[in-house]
Amino acid sequence: MKTGKEGFQERVGWLLGAGRKSGGDGVTAAVQCDRDRMAIPGRCLPCCAALLAFIALFGAVLPAHVKKAMEESPETYSHYYDHKELSERLHSLAQAYPELCRLSSLGMSVEGRELWVMRVTADPDAVPPERPQFKYVGNMHGDETVSRQVLVYLLRYLLENYGREPRVTALLNATDIYIVPSLNPDGFQRAQEGDCQGEKGGRENARQLDLNRNFPDQFTNQQPPDPQQVPEVVAMMRWIQENRFVLSGNLHGGSVVASYPYDDSSSHMETGFYSKSSDDKVFQYLAKAYASNHPIMKTGHPRCKGEEEEFFPDGITNGAHWYDVQGGMQDWNYLNTNCFEVTIELGCVKYPVASELPTYWESNHRSLLEFIQQVHKGIKGFVLDATDRRGIFNATVSVADINHPVTSDKAGDYWRLLVPGTYKVTASARGYLSLHLPVLLSLTSWSSNL
Ligand SMILES: [Zn+2]
Repeated sequence: MKTGKEGFQERVGWLLGAGRKSGGDGVTAAVQCDRDRMAIPGRCLPCCAALLAFIALFGAVLPAHVKKAMEESPETYSHYYDHKELSERLHSLAQAYPELCRLSSLGMSVEGRELWVMRVTADPDAVPPERPQFKYVGNMHGDETVSRQVLVYLLRYLLENYGREPRVTALLNATDIYIVPSLNPDGFQRAQEGDCQGEKGGRENARQLDLNRNFPDQFTNQQPPDPQQVPEVVAMMRWIQENRFVLSGNLHGGSVVASYPYDDSSSHMETGFYSKSSDDKVFQYLAKAYASNHPIMKTGHPRCKGEEEEFFPDGITNGAHWYDVQGGMQDWNYLNTNCFEVTIELGCVKYPVASELPTYWESNHRSLLEFIQQVHKGIKGFVLDATDRRGIFNATVSVADINHPVTSDKAGDYWRLLVPGTYKVTASARGYLSLHLPVLLSLTSWSSNL
């Protein structure tokens, strides 16, 4: 392997140049009508009559495309899948679409339930290095159940519309998507339908431990989790480390907001402390990508029971500023891997009655798709050896003034999520001289891909 300065600079320079072409979908969100009575600001009197009329109809009249999907699909929009049904549904999707998906398991829960993950991408037996990995994780709190169903609906939507809808086709051709409908199947079995605020159990795993409080934490506990106590956390950590995820959504319930790192601070102030990560701008953008496409979230007014005055500007919040969470999954992703994770609260009610599931799917499906597309925003490319053009594994790509380098994968491929701007990017690897390059990430190039 050549270690000369000239060769390395040339290769990286060429690659970073290609990376500037990367981009994603436009950032402008379409404006939709608010569909939830709780989302209407009280002072919006002039337009309330029309909105109320619309809302009165909404309970009975779903948009035509949702009704069509419900009629055509074997999906049970009218009840929650228990673990057996979920397993059967995932297997049947995997059998029906072998050219697009693969079903596997991350491991087992305390009570021996599989932690299913469906991989969805065109040509799922290949691992093309130019395809970034994305993941959604649902139902980590067993009593927050909307994500568990909605992620199955998303799977079906992606699989059924490949080759039919240009947006879905482009997404699966360019993205390696992983969906975990339930990280806490044991908790779900204990949870009770209709539980609004998580008072009836099921949040924790079968050892009564909260999975979103048991990841190693930057300020308090760095110890690896106990596989006997939280095998779900251990399985998730191992799976994340075996892969090369770039972006992730961790789906919860109990409010309507997108929350981003950090989730805690060294002082562990209970609330009101903005614990800023090095990528605060990127995280704000990512959270907005979800929130701005959700009819309630984008208003910033969830108006959940007992929290009627709560307001989240643009429908997003820094995690610690909302409330301090130690040992959460999103911070662990960001601090230990290349993956940026945002925690998304899908609804005020943790376990809504099943008849409301079509409404939840309708209000979230656009956001769910839009958020996946953000995995393509930023710079990407390859770090190769100048002599033989082989990929350099574990090369570091860092951006000046952002203390969060990412590392390249086996083929030398890397992704670095960024918002438009001018950056100084450095590629470095053991045995090579580092290369520094200015990168202009223009709004045009950033918005043009996919
Ligand atoms: Zn939760």
